[in-house]
Amino acid sequence: MRRLASRLPGTWEIRACPSGAVSVTVYSEWTRRDPTVAVRRQLERWTTPRPLVRGWDLRLATRHGPELGRAAERALAAVRPARGIRTVYWRVYPFRGKDGVARRLFVCWRRTHRAPVFFVAEASGTNRSCPVCSRDRPGRTRRRR
Ligand SMILES: [Zn+2]
Repeated sequence: MRRLASRLPGTWEIRACPSGAVSVTVYSEWTRRDPTVAVRRQLERWTTPRPLVRGWDLRLATRHGPELGRAAERALAAVRPARGIRTVYWRVYPFRGKDGVARRLFVCWRRTHRAPVFFVAEASGTNRSCPVCSRDRPGRTRRRR
């Protein structure tokens, strides 16, 4: 699990395995409004190509004290907030392309780009080149870390 910073007031958590395969990206904010549109715009900035972020892959949930643990429950009971925690989940399930090849969502964390890059690659193959890294260094072999 990794946390991410953005201009949005809430917090981001990305659950991914060491290979970069992403299981879910979660945004949480203490607010009354629905942050889905802002979340989608931010994800589009991090994703290549942008249309990979589809509305039906985003799910909104509202969390209250009991789901957040005992400490949070006590704190929330004391202040009685009128708002819950709004959480937006972005989950892209593995899928098969028209060529029959299974693909899934990956994330590249290399520091050569300022922000993470979400992209789709073959689920089982070894050729998982991040589109931003390969665009930045044309003709060069990508270093593996
Ligand atoms: Zn990259």
